[in-house]
Amino acid sequence: MQYTLNDIFLKMGESVDVVYLIDTEDNTYVALKNTELFRSYYGDSGDYLELMDSFFKNSVDERVSHDTPYGVFSEKKIMFTDEVTKCSCLRFDTKKVYVNIKKQLMDSRFFALIISLESREKFQEEVHLNQGMNVIKSAYLFTMIVDLNTDKCGTMSMSEIDVTPVNVPDFSYSEWRKIIVNMFLPEDQDLFNRISDPEYLKKTLSYERSNTVDFNMMNLDGKYIWVKLIFHRINTGNDDDFKFFYMVEDIHDSHMRLMDTIKQLEDLAQRDSLTGLLNRSGIDAAISQKIKEENGKPISLLMLDIDHFKQINDTFGHAEGDEVLKSVASLVSERMEEWDGIFGRWGGEEFIGVIGDTSIEAMEKISEEIRSSIEEHDFGKSGKVTVSMGIIELNLTDTAKTAFDRLDEALYKAKESGRNRVVRG
Ligand code: GH3
Ligand code: MG
Ligand code: MG
Repeated sequence: MQYTLNDIFLKMGESVDVVYLIDTEDNTYVALKNTELFRSYYGDSGDYLELMDSFFKNSVDERVSHDTPYGVFSEKKIMFTDEVTKCSCLRFDTKKVYVNIKKQLMDSRFFALIISLESREKFQEEVHLNQGMNVIKSAYLFTMIVDLNTDKCGTMSMSEIDVTPVNVPDFSYSEWRKIIVNMFLPEDQDLFNRISDPEYLKKTLSYERSNTVDFNMMNLDGKYIWVKLIFHRINTGNDDDFKFFYMVEDIHDSHMRLMDTIKQLEDLAQRDSLTGLLNRSGIDAAISQKIKEENGKPISLLMLDIDHFKQINDTFGHAEGDEVLKSVASLVSERMEEWDGIFGRWGGEEFIGVIGDTSIEAMEKISEEIRSSIEEHDFGKSGKVTVSMGIIELNLTDTAKTAFDRLDEALYKAKESGRNRVVRG
């Protein structure tokens, strides 16, 4: 055996700079190992609570500048509640020291604080790692307890919720609201003010339910993420109390997934199930969008109706009729896509097409091409199929109604004058 257990302890000792043994019975500490810097500040023994207080005051969260809204709580961070290693940056006058602090339980009375000095790079690495771990550990980014009767609030860590649900609040809630509102998008700030208003909360918060609202909120890295704000009244057993938890839950990923699903549903709701084309409401929306995009350039529309379609149904059956509808839909939409146009099913065997930056003359050429390509297509069982079309160019005085009336009229003329043709309206 090359190394003994003692060698390993000795090795560990080299990377440990300061060790305080804490006596939890009388709240004192004794330094078992020390450095010049720590000794000059904390000596070799003393009051543990004073030591902690000094650590709090001198700890710097590098990412939370004291001028930012989050800075209101940066000095009130709770350290050493867990039995895990914690990275901190301590300030000794003008000097910053990066340390790794580990709490090691010895027995029910004593524990050791083991402090190793770290490089700034190592510290930042660990901070990142811890942030990642926290996200996994808890989706709750922030928890605060508020007492409306005294207008006070204070931060909490998750572990403390289990142990002591009612913390001692120490910051003005009204002041906090004024600061934190800046972390929301300008258009959401009114809503935040409303839902966090004490009178509103007193009216709406009952014991068994929470008020929740989803917001886009700036995180510590200055990035907006989706969060759920939760206001939950605490039942202290005294109805005269008004205390509540304010929690911020990270719902960014699930919110983004929800938005994707909603987008897909919206898309589905705008599509015709038989042909997969836009349906009437989809076309309406697409036309409005097109008008905005084209910004004054000519826009032309076509209305297409299959000739003697009823006969196809009557002769070959409804299912064959459906096949013809699908074939016409895909033939025409392919051509329309070439012109960056929109094509949808208006209902039955009628379709609407819209092409931007296109005059009535250009539209007439395109429509003629479409008409003849259908005339030439072999529809299998149904053989030859023809279509009639009415076309118009939108003018400035058109409303949706006048435009569709004009299209209808042009289509009617195409039918009247013998079908299988394009007529300008
Ligand atoms: P015209 O040349 O004057 O347009 O004659 P048409 O037979 O095409 O017109 P009409 O309006 O008389 O008939 C349209 C038919 O389209 C009636 C209806 O049953 C049929 N139809 C409507 N929607 C569907 C559908 O989704 N599938 C099938 N197979 N038929 C449909
Ligand atoms: Mg019809
Ligand atoms: Mg028809």
